[in-house]
Formats: sequence, structure tokens, C-alpha cells
Amino acid sequence: MVKIGIEAHIQLLNCSSKVFCSCPTTGDENPNTRTCPTCLGLPGAKPVLNKKAFEQAVQTAIALDCKIPKETFFSRKNYFFPDLPKSYQITQYEIPIGTNGKLENIKIKRVHLEEDPGALIHKGSITLIDYNRSGIPLIEIVTEPDFKSPNEVRLFLRKLITILEYLDIYERKSEAAMKADANISATGEKVEIKNITGLKEIERALDYEAARQEKEPAQQQETRGWDSEKGITFLQRTKEEESDYGYIFDGDLTKIEISQSLIKKIKLEIPELSLDKVERFKKAYKLEKEDAETLAADKLLAELFEEVAKEIDPILAAHWLRRDLMKVLHYNKKELKEVKIDAQHIKEILSLLQQNKINDATAKELLIKLIESPFSPKEHIEKENLAMITSESEIENMCREVIKNNKGVVDSYKSGKQEAMNFLVGQVMRLSKGKANPKETQKILKKLI
Ligand SMILES: [Zn+2]
Repeated sequence: MVKIGIEAHIQLLNCSSKVFCSCPTTGDENPNTRTCPTCLGLPGAKPVLNKKAFEQAVQTAIALDCKIPKETFFSRKNYFFPDLPKSYQITQYEIPIGTNGKLENIKIKRVHLEEDPGALIHKGSITLIDYNRSGIPLIEIVTEPDFKSPNEVRLFLRKLITILEYLDIYERKSEAAMKADANISATGEKVEIKNITGLKEIERALDYEAARQEKEPAQQQETRGWDSEKGITFLQRTKEEESDYGYIFDGDLTKIEISQSLIKKIKLEIPELSLDKVERFKKAYKLEKEDAETLAADKLLAELFEEVAKEIDPILAAHWLRRDLMKVLHYNKKELKEVKIDAQHIKEILSLLQQNKINDATAKELLIKLIESPFSPKEHIEKENLAMITSESEIENMCREVIKNNKGVVDSYKSGKQEAMNFLVGQVMRLSKGKANPKETQKILKKLI
């Protein structure tokens, strides 16, 4: 049986400055422009803990149901690598910010805060180093080996991302901001795959590795890399133990007390998270589980839904938002936050639809237009004269005309040919330039024939 555990690394890019200095986390992308003696690791430079990053890590640990210690501290993980000029990474080892948590059925072993090292850029035979990344706050979330399939890992990471988005510490768009190491054992010893970027790649790498281990079980613990172009993992080294790194207490950073009042304050700042939202949507709006889950999986979409549902039938609103709006966005390769569609637009479209003033096709066209630029759907329908014909006598007149001009088709309908009716409805639709209601039209035609 396959057993998989995950170490997810999340960059806190919404935190404006780095974890141990005041350099910005985002901005100028030219290499080595966002650096100072501290994040360059120069001798004598003193790190100072960024309170905001620390609180975001505590918030993550609380949201994942972790136990929070009364105090914690940072340690130096010693290793030599060019992306880390001071020869150690400041991280947490002995007492992490959170332990023994869970997310649904998956146990969370630990949550801790650390600094990202610099980035190595390989160009032909030379290697360049960019220290802009050095010191960006990273949260590491380690699970127990509770996953039984690569797909389960992907679903878990998606839920984790949703939680982090609700906490406002992660943005889905920056896929590179989610890296993971995964350990997997199929039949033999445990194998660790290092540094996989993005959910899809994590699942692919694990699928490959599970199949590989079925064929040749690992004889000893080893660390492998992932080559996403070739779609294979490759041996890097046989596994070192965590204790091989020689962790020592970082005396530059004092111990940090995590008081009950701080925990209380942070708890109050945690918004309703996606899992709770699903339950509330099911109860309050009578949504199906799947609709509730899809809406709650995207914070912005969930907020949009609640705003629309104040005036529109929630079930209708849920269907249009999760099916039609998402489809249009997806087709245009856009995210909800990138377009200027707001609740007012959706309310206008759906209330026109509810009042039978427009049909589904027109509503969809309006959505497509709104992706490009915002306008009032209600005014647009009036101005362009796109509203459906609601006057029954007007439709009846058209039906009479169609019947008069298509005697042969009417006769074949009378002799039992059902398809003939579709043709007649089609003719009325054409005459009305698509503004007649097909159901109404059929009813009237049947009455007249
Ligand atoms: Zn700096």
C-alpha cells in the first residue's frame, strides 16, 4: 500500500517585508535589488523577527487545529550552499509554532516559520545567484504520512490553499509560491522527492514514483529530484537524517512568548473558513453539497454569491455563478479577481432572467460581454431592444402568420409528425429575431392548430 506524507512550503508574499529584515518581498524583479546585509548573510548583520510574518504563521497553525506552545525560538540549520552565504538557514526545529493539528482526515505534524534561501539561476556552464528571494518568509506545513494516493495529496493541497487564501496569506495565481517535498513508500524504504512546484506536478511526480517503486522497491532511504520535462524522478543522494544538519539555537533572535491574549486576538481575526462556509451554505441557502463546495472553494466567488443571493433566488444564483460565470472565465483564461464583474451586474442579469425578459442565451452573452468591460445589463437590454416579447398577443400574431405561410408543415404536424412543431417554433423565433419565448410559442402554436 502506498503511504505519502507532504512538506508544503508557502511563501508569504502578502507579507510586505522579509522575515528577518525590512527588504520588500515583492517589487523590483531585477536580481539582487531587494537586499541588505541581513538577507545577504553578511557577517555581523543582525536579524529582527517580522511580527506580521510570525502572526501569519501562528494564524495558519490555529486554522489547522494545531497545538500552540507557550514560547518558541529559532534555530540555525547548518549547511553550506551558495544560495545561503552565512552557511545556515534560520528555521525552527525543536519547538515549532504549531504541532499535532489536522485538516479533515489528514494529521498535521508541524507548522513552522523559516527564511527562504536565494535562487540559483543556471545559464549554460555558469550559475548566477539572485538574493531577492533570500529572507522571504516561508511557512512549512508537514503532514503525517496519511495519504493513500497521489490524487488525495492534490485534493488536500487544494483545500490547504483555499484556507490560506481565506486567511489572506496566499494567492492562488502564484503557483510557484507553493512548493512541496513529498515522501512516499510503496513497497520498500521511504523515498523523498524534493522541490516540486505546483499541484499538478506534485501529483505527476508521485504517480511516477509510486509506479516506479512497484517495479523496483527502494532498498534504502533516498532523496530524489523531479524532472518535469522528462516526467521522471532521479536519484540525488541517499537520505540524510534531520539531525545531520546540526541545529543550534540562534542567539541573535530572542525567545518569543506566545501569550493567550495574542492567540485570542489572532483567533478573532480568522474569518469563517471554507469548510464552515460549505455547511452554512447548505443550511442557509439549501444548496446542494457540490454547489456549496465549488462556491466556498473560492473566497471571492463565495462573497459574490452571498451578495447576489440577497436579492436573487440562491439556487439560481449558485448555478449561474458556479457553472456559467466560471465557464466564461475559464474559456477566456481569466480569474474572477481580474475582471470587473460585480454583484450588481449578476443581480441585473438574473433578475431579467427571472422576469422572463431575457432568455438563457442572452444572459450568457451578457456574461461574455461583461468579462471584457463593465456596463449595466439592464440598460444595455433596453437600449439594444433585446428584451423578450412578453406580450402574448404579439406572439400570437406571429404564430398566425407562420401557420398561414406553412400549411404543409401544419398538416404534417396534424398527421402526427412531432418534428414539424420544432420547425414552426423555429419560424416564429426567426420572425421575432430570437426574442420570443420558445416554450410560450409552442403553447400558443398548439392552441391555434
Ligand atoms: Zn534584507
